[in-house]
Amino acid sequence: MTEIQGRIAAIRGELPEGVRLVAVSKFHPISRLAEAYAAGQRIFGESRAQELREKVPAMPQDVEWHFIGHLQLNKVKLIAPSVRLIHAVDSLRLMQEIDRQADRFSQARQAAGLPPTIDVLLQLHVAREETKFGFSPEELEAFLAEGSWKACTHVQICGLMCMASNTDDMEQVRGEFQIAYQTFRSVRERYFAASSSFKECSWGMSEDYAVAIACGSTMVRIGSHIFGPREY
Ligand SMILES: *Cc1c(COP(=O)(O)O)cnc(C)c1O
Repeated sequence: MTEIQGRIAAIRGELPEGVRLVAVSKFHPISRLAEAYAAGQRIFGESRAQELREKVPAMPQDVEWHFIGHLQLNKVKLIAPSVRLIHAVDSLRLMQEIDRQADRFSQARQAAGLPPTIDVLLQLHVAREETKFGFSPEELEAFLAEGSWKACTHVQICGLMCMASNTDDMEQVRGEFQIAYQTFRSVRERYFAASSSFKECSWGMSEDYAVAIACGSTMVRIGSHIFGPREY
């Protein structure tokens, strides 16, 4: 067993049933992804469209590719043929572009064994840090109430995603994940009560996934804990 495989096995042992592991492989070479694949890992997360696009043909067909970072409008077409889940949708314009590209690439998607619609999560901003990405809970409510998203019939909203503050203060982190989980439950009840697909809570990274799991996470996105430090 390699180091990467040992770390994956250890993390898997800690995940309760119903929590899936996204191996965040951004900036790492295919050889490392292949090690993880050999350990049974099938879900890989990337945060750059071009990098994801280049890695897809280099890995086996049954890999589930997730896009986890901020996605620019003009990059959607690069990942639309192969992506299984886009984690961080934070505007109507981005959702509409994903809708357009899902329609355009529906045959390529089906040929690749993917559903014709593209699954997405809405990104919630709960951290203390100033960032322009993600809806505040109030903005998310306004976005859903406004209703234009319902016209995006080639997109399936499957839940929420968030990142906690980058801090050692785990009580701060816990508070943020709790806000995210409360928002998830209230939004599910108000807008997705009839949708069995709205069920994912994507929170938890290398330093905080244990706390995230205690706060309802169904998907942890772990990079450095598996692959070691990234070289930028
Ligand atoms: C890089 C990244 C991760 C993984 O971070 P680690 O601390 O290496 O586990 C998770 N989520 C997002 C959105 C990222 O960009």
